[in-house]
Amino acid sequence: MIDRVTTTRVIYLGGLGRSGTTLLERLLGELPGVVALGEVVHLWERGVLAQEPCGCGVPFPACAFWRQVGERAFGGWASVTAHRVLMLRHRVDRTRRIVRIAHRDLAEYAQAYRLVYAATGAGVVIDSSKHASLAWCLVASGMDVHVVHVVRDPRAVAYSWGKDVARPEDGRPMTRWGPARTALHWTAQNGALELLARRGARVTTVRYEDLLAAPERTLTALVRELGLAAAVPGLPFVDSRTAWLGPSHTVSGNPMRFHVGRVELRRDDAWTTGLRDGDRRVVDALTWPLRHRYGYTEAAA
Ligand SMILES: [Zn+2]
Repeated sequence: MIDRVTTTRVIYLGGLGRSGTTLLERLLGELPGVVALGEVVHLWERGVLAQEPCGCGVPFPACAFWRQVGERAFGGWASVTAHRVLMLRHRVDRTRRIVRIAHRDLAEYAQAYRLVYAATGAGVVIDSSKHASLAWCLVASGMDVHVVHVVRDPRAVAYSWGKDVARPEDGRPMTRWGPARTALHWTAQNGALELLARRGARVTTVRYEDLLAAPERTLTALVRELGLAAAVPGLPFVDSRTAWLGPSHTVSGNPMRFHVGRVELRRDDAWTTGLRDGDRRVVDALTWPLRHRYGYTEAAA
């Protein structure tokens, strides 16, 4: 087990929700030797405790993939383990703690993730947990982590957070945020991931708009940057705008984690007409200057 633990490479997708991390994870997860796990930060509550469906469609306890991971990592999933990790998360994995992450519980908290990653048996895993604070925890614990920081125009993100969407897991509405709240979270998460790069962690930034403008080129460049050049022929493109996604075992994520089959990669600019002017001004003001750093000026990028 120890050898496996030290050789699992982690690709961590960071950024604010609704920025395209689930799509990017699904695309990267098609590469040979790479296993997409979804948002592992939610594994404990939504998977182990709430028994929500895996990306493969069956409830978490019935998924053979996760059952095997649980047995290898912890001798089986137990609610006591999940509660313990959630308690540690509450103590350690907080946005406001990231600059002094050296908490006494960090080692035990990070070890739970290390065991999960290793138990997949994969050489490379993708964790799309998104939160900058977990990225900080994993990096601080000495894990082999490459962070892919996914950014999206905050006006598009705010428009998405304002929409009514039902969760496929239980039909309840997904969380909605107003424009100011979205803008503040956008700045906090992206700022924290920027800081991580400045502290010497391996961070590659990808704009969602670039992924959709030139999917194959952007993904090829990213895969090379991740040190997976040999896997480039395995990119799942049917043509330059269409990918093919097989089943996955992503434990949590947005509704597209359940999608199997063709997916057309096309930019959605509905926010340019759908976001109210007043809301847009709020987002513009609260996300400057970071927004300009990524090229999201007053016009659509
Ligand atoms: Zn599954």
